[in-house]
Amino acid sequence: MSHVLLSVCGRRHRRALGGRSALLQFRLGARTAQVLCKQTHVHERCFGSNIGATYHPGVAPESSTPVPSELMGNFQGLEVTFLGTGAAAPSPRRNVLSVAVRIGLAEQRKSAALWLFDVGEATQHQLMRSHLHMGRIERIFLTHLHGDHCFGLAGLLCGLGANSIPDDQSETAGDSGDAPGDRRGRLPLVDVYGPPGLRLLVRSALGVGRAHPRLRLRLHEIVPPAPDVLRDWYEWSRQFMNVEDNRLSRAALRTWAETLAPTMDCSLPMLPCEQAGTDFHFPSLADVQSMSEDPRIHGSIALKLVDDERGSVYVAPLRHSVPCFGYVIVEKQRLPRIDLVALRQKYQLETHPILKELKLGRSVPHPHDASKWIEPSEVLQPAAGPRKLVILGDTYDSTLILPAAHQCQLLVHEATLGDELAHRARSVQHSTARMAGAFAKRANLTGALALTHISARYDDQDGRSSRQLLAEARQGAKDGQFSIFIAEDLQRVQVPGTTAQCDPALMRYSTRSADSDSAVMLDAL
Ligand SMILES: [Zn+2]
Ligand SMILES: [Zn+2]
Repeated sequence: MSHVLLSVCGRRHRRALGGRSALLQFRLGARTAQVLCKQTHVHERCFGSNIGATYHPGVAPESSTPVPSELMGNFQGLEVTFLGTGAAAPSPRRNVLSVAVRIGLAEQRKSAALWLFDVGEATQHQLMRSHLHMGRIERIFLTHLHGDHCFGLAGLLCGLGANSIPDDQSETAGDSGDAPGDRRGRLPLVDVYGPPGLRLLVRSALGVGRAHPRLRLRLHEIVPPAPDVLRDWYEWSRQFMNVEDNRLSRAALRTWAETLAPTMDCSLPMLPCEQAGTDFHFPSLADVQSMSEDPRIHGSIALKLVDDERGSVYVAPLRHSVPCFGYVIVEKQRLPRIDLVALRQKYQLETHPILKELKLGRSVPHPHDASKWIEPSEVLQPAAGPRKLVILGDTYDSTLILPAAHQCQLLVHEATLGDELAHRARSVQHSTARMAGAFAKRANLTGALALTHISARYDDQDGRSSRQLLAEARQGAKDGQFSIFIAEDLQRVQVPGTTAQCDPALMRYSTRSADSDSAVMLDAL
C-alpha cells in the first residue's frame, strides 16, 4: 500500500521535491499510508511533509504576504473573498479561480448580495469553507471559458437550487432592479454573464444529466468587439495549432479549432429553469474611437451589464487566447456618515445602535431621554464617494479596460508567472507579476493590487517565491501609491474607502440587444 502511495507522490510532486524520489522523502508506515489514501489527502499531506507543514483550508500559510491593514476589518459594504487563487489546475495550496464580491449597505450586512466572478472547479467547496452564504448568490460573471474559470459552474448552479433562500423571505426581495415583484415569491433568480459559449456550456452540462436546479436562470452572452479582439483569438489558435505536438494530429487540431470558430452559437433548447437572456454586443473599436475626440474616451469601451440598487457592473475585453473580459464594479452611493463630534456635543452620545437608524435618515428618540428626538440632519455628514473594484480575467494586454479601471480602489489582476518565465507568459497569453504592477500604475490605482492566478511553481513554504513575485510587481508599479499583496484562498478583504468621486459617464450611446429591441447603454467610465 505504501509503495503505491509513494510512487504516486513521486510522480505528482517530483518538481516540489527537487527532482528527488519521493521514496527518499517519506517514511510512512503502511497504516499511515492507508489512512492517507482513504482520506484522499494524499498529495496535500505529502506536499506538506516535504516542506514542513500541512496546509489547512482557510488558514493562510506562513509564507503568505501580509494583507495591507487598510483592507482588513468587518464588512464595509464592498468585500472581496478569494475562493480560488491558483492558475490552471488546483494545487494543495490554491484552488482554481473564483472571487466572491459581497455588496450592499454596510448598515444592512445581512441583506448584502453575493456576486461571483469565475467559478473554477470546487468553488462550492470553497464557499462552504468560507463565511459566505451560497443562497445570497444573485449574479455570476465568467471572465472566459477556460476550465480553471468555469468548470465549477454547472455543479454550483445545482447546489444553488438546494441552498437558495426563498425570495419572499429575503430582505432584498423585489428591490434588485428587476421589474417589481420579479424576484419575489418565486424560485430565486440567478443571472449568469459570460462570453459566447456560455449557453452551450450550461445547457450541455445540465441537459445531458437531465438536471433541473430549483432556481430561475438567465444566461447572458457578451459578444467581444469584432474583428479587433476576435481576430487575435483566431490567429493565436492558428499559431497554437501549428506547434509540433507529437501526441496529437496537427491537422485534427486545426480542423477542430476552425470548426469551433467563429461562432459558439448554441442550438440546444433552453433548460426548463431558464428564462431568455440578453446578448450584449460591443461596437467595433473603430466605431468607438471615431465617435469622440475626447482623450479620456479614446480606445475606451465598457459595456454596462448591471445597474441595480447595489451597484453597476461594466465589462470590457482583454487580450487572451480565447474571448476574455474584465469587470468593473462601481458601488452605489453609500449612506451618510455620522458626525461624531456633533453627536457628542449636542446629544452626549458616542456610539449606539440608533446610529444605524440615523444613517438611514430616520429621526430617533434619544436613548437616555425619550422626550428628546435626534434629527438626522443635525448629525450627518456627506457620504464618501462610491468605490470602484476591478476584477480582470486572464490577460496579456488589458489596455482596452484601462480607462474604465482608472483610479479604482482595488484591482484584482492575474500574475501567473515571474520574470524568469516572461517569455512563457507571453506565449500562453498570461501576465507576469511585473506586468500586473505596471498595469496598476497606469490605471492610477488608489488602494491596493491583489495578485491572483498564481502558478503552483510559486507555492514554496519558505515564501521566497512569493516575495520574488511581490518584488517584481513592485518594480513594475514603480512609484505607484498603492499596496500590493498576493491573494490566498479564503482570504477576505474590504475594498478601501475613498472620498474621490468616480468620473461620471462621459459618453453614452446605445446598441441593440440581439434578443430584444431594448437598448443597451454603453458607458465610458
Ligand atoms: Zn486561468
Ligand atoms: Zn485562461
